[in-house]
Amino acid sequence: MQTADVIVIGGGVLGGAVAFYLAKQNAGRVIVLERHSVAQGNSSLAAGLLTRGRFKPYLIPMVLETYQAIQEIEVIIGSSLGMRQTGCLYAAFSPVHQKEVRELVSVSSQMGLRTEWLDIIEASRRVPWLKLPRRAIAAFMPEDGYIDGYSLASGYIKAAKRLGVEIHEHTEVLSICKTGQRVTGVKTTKGDFSASLVIDSAGVWAGMLAYELGIGFPMAPVRSHYWITVEYPLFSPLQPFVILPDARAYARPESHRLLFGFRETQSVAVSPRDLPKKMNGYVFTQDPHGWESFLDGVPEFSKFFPLIEEIKISTYIKGLSNYTPDGNFVLGALPSLDGFLAATGCAGAGIAMSGGIGRLVAELATGRTPFVDAAPHRIDRFGSIDPCDPAWLQRCADARSAKITG
Ligand SMILES: Cc1cc2nc3c(=O)[nH]c(=O)nc-3n(C[C@H](O)[C@H](O)[C@H](O)COP(=O)(O)OP(=O)(O)OC[C@H]3O[C@@H](n4cnc5c(N)ncnc54)[C@H](O)[C@@H]3O)c2cc1C
Repeated sequence: MQTADVIVIGGGVLGGAVAFYLAKQNAGRVIVLERHSVAQGNSSLAAGLLTRGRFKPYLIPMVLETYQAIQEIEVIIGSSLGMRQTGCLYAAFSPVHQKEVRELVSVSSQMGLRTEWLDIIEASRRVPWLKLPRRAIAAFMPEDGYIDGYSLASGYIKAAKRLGVEIHEHTEVLSICKTGQRVTGVKTTKGDFSASLVIDSAGVWAGMLAYELGIGFPMAPVRSHYWITVEYPLFSPLQPFVILPDARAYARPESHRLLFGFRETQSVAVSPRDLPKKMNGYVFTQDPHGWESFLDGVPEFSKFFPLIEEIKISTYIKGLSNYTPDGNFVLGALPSLDGFLAATGCAGAGIAMSGGIGRLVAELATGRTPFVDAAPHRIDRFGSIDPCDPAWLQRCADARSAKITG
């Protein structure tokens, strides 16, 4: 039996971030347990948009923390994580989406973010592949950027390791152990570990580990996917990434190709019970190759990107993120259970929010005053739920369909 102060389950971007902040806060002996290799779960599949603009002001400091963490990690590990700070352009045409973008800009400016309004000619100059109707509006957030999810997740892990965290790969947590109302450790494929605190940050697999403890995390794994075109002279890695609420689309340069995704009208949720241990090659029962979603999204997207009708697609990427009905996360403790914290339910924004989630959960773990209010992310805010119930899964899938920020 090995003994730690804190066990962190999962070596993705959230487990990595939590471990990094625990180390910074001198949380004692911290061990990350990862059943495969670190940073190779859904974090490695992300589009990696680090969108600061949020309708909920309390989420903005959490994204800002990620930018801060990137700077710190680069100093600690002595190399760049490759973030591209190109800025983000929001363009909207219909009155309803123009109103949303104005509201987003208003909230963002009140929170101290830099925002600019661009005229259509300037917006098209910065993003030459984008065709904007004459009456569209365009808001630009110059400080936004994007990052490779694998690079950020492994950056947190490397920095945490430099600060003394132990990383155990190929060590699967089989169950979380409980005595009375206290979690006491975990059983793994490499033996038992005891700890004063266990943090469940096992991504879309976090829900089943908690479920077996009798806890229903208020979230469900929902598919996210995107496509990447072939190279084309109109695309450059220096261009901003773009959010188009009218087309329910986002796009960013991927070197000289264009990566784009749609928030489909019918998102696909998967019961946590049916998840494979690895996502590689996982076949979704609904719209397995994403074609329905692609065909659903193209007509609106082509109004802003006419080339979509003829350009070849080189790559299709799909994966899962945990979605909650209210777009908040699943973080912190339960009043009825000691020694256990959740760091999950990322609402499709785990890359952008990783710094904030890592810092907040580490502060809860070490008894510090949290830098943001943890209440919106409480595990029990929906009461008792069954995370495998089809109606619940549908609620979480609908939350993704309704999302308009990056
Ligand atoms: C296609 C796509 C695009 C996305 N785009 C964006 C974006 O633009 N911006 C953004 O902010 N977010 C984006 N996301 C969301 C983002 O990827 C997730 O929010 C984030 O990766 C979640 O990180 P995680 O650490 O919780 O999960 P993961 O990276 O999946 O890590 C969980 C880890 O836990 C391990 N694990 C699971 N069970 C066990 C066990 N029993 N024992 C030990 N280890 C275990 C897994 O092996 C895995 O390594 C996107 C997601 C997808 C799929």
